Amino acid sequence: MTRATTTMRPFGSGGREVPVIGQGSWNIELADRAGAIAALRRGLDLGLLHIDTAEMYGSGRSEEIVGEAVAGRRDTVFLVSKVLPHNASKSGTLRACEQSLRRLRTDRLDCYLLHWRGSYPLEETFEAFETLKRDGKILSWGVSNFDVEDLEEALTLAPSDAIACNQVLYHLRERAIEHALLPFCAGQGIAVTAYSPFGQDDFPAPGSPGGRVLAEIAQAHGATPRQVALAFLTRNDAVFAIPKAARPVHVEENAGALSLALTPAEIGRINRAFPRGPKPRSLPML
Ligand code: NAP
Repeated sequence: MTRATTTMRPFGSGGREVPVIGQGSWNIELADRAGAIAALRRGLDLGLLHIDTAEMYGSGRSEEIVGEAVAGRRDTVFLVSKVLPHNASKSGTLRACEQSLRRLRTDRLDCYLLHWRGSYPLEETFEAFETLKRDGKILSWGVSNFDVEDLEEALTLAPSDAIACNQVLYHLRERAIEHALLPFCAGQGIAVTAYSPFGQDDFPAPGSPGGRVLAEIAQAHGATPRQVALAFLTRNDAVFAIPKAARPVHVEENAGALSLALTPAEIGRINRAFPRGPKPRSLPML
């Protein structure tokens, strides 16, 4: 087995133990509100304690929904939000964080990320993150959509144990991070959070060659193809995945991946069915 049924692992070096599968929330505000809240809560019941949101999502409405979902159980949740690059000056980051905390109805974030690189110097954003950390408003911070060169620059400004994670695009048909970024992050003790782990709405169809491989492996475990995909993506010790699901039935399926471990032979089959392809010139992102 490559990934034992380890459902928790440290989020970055010295970081809190966090379940390998979490919950995304982009576009969750487009779903039926009560259903979306029920889905997030069902996920928490089933151990999907890492909830990812951002000030960008629905212009704050996603954070409000997440805030309602975690009300009364905040202490069990690993709550992550993100500052938009155009707000990521020092004062802008401090202000954006306050607004996120208010929408999320909480006094702290477990991790706060720069959504992607913009025009403000990283130094300013990181200074704001450190101020927020000293004030107890965030417990850790990280980045998103950073390639190796961006991280190398970031590491000249902050020690690697200060950068908890890099949240990046990673799914069966988009494995670019495996070339250099994933090994780099793993080597530095930076957690990799896989976003869009189902390729948004582009999961391999059941009748496709890759879909058949997933179905056969799933059948051998009494699992589903999506659970197999999540287990594959989180086979590396540094990786966490955050599928978004606004329906409780989807959340339940995703939580089932926490206890699924694939054999090396199965991982080999998935590797062949969804080849990683050549290294692209720039990091793919949505
Ligand atoms: P995703 O998680 O790959 O896919 C979401 C879609 O899959 C939704 O339509 C959802 O349906 C469906 N789904 C989920 N579980 C399912 C299941 N078990 N069976 C069938 N369908 C299922 O896409 P994503 O939302 O783009 O990515 C996940 C999260 O990553 C986001 O929500 C966000 O938090 C984060 N993200 C970050 C960035 C960044 O730049 N940092 C970019 C993109 C995403 P329902 O909703 O109807 O259940």
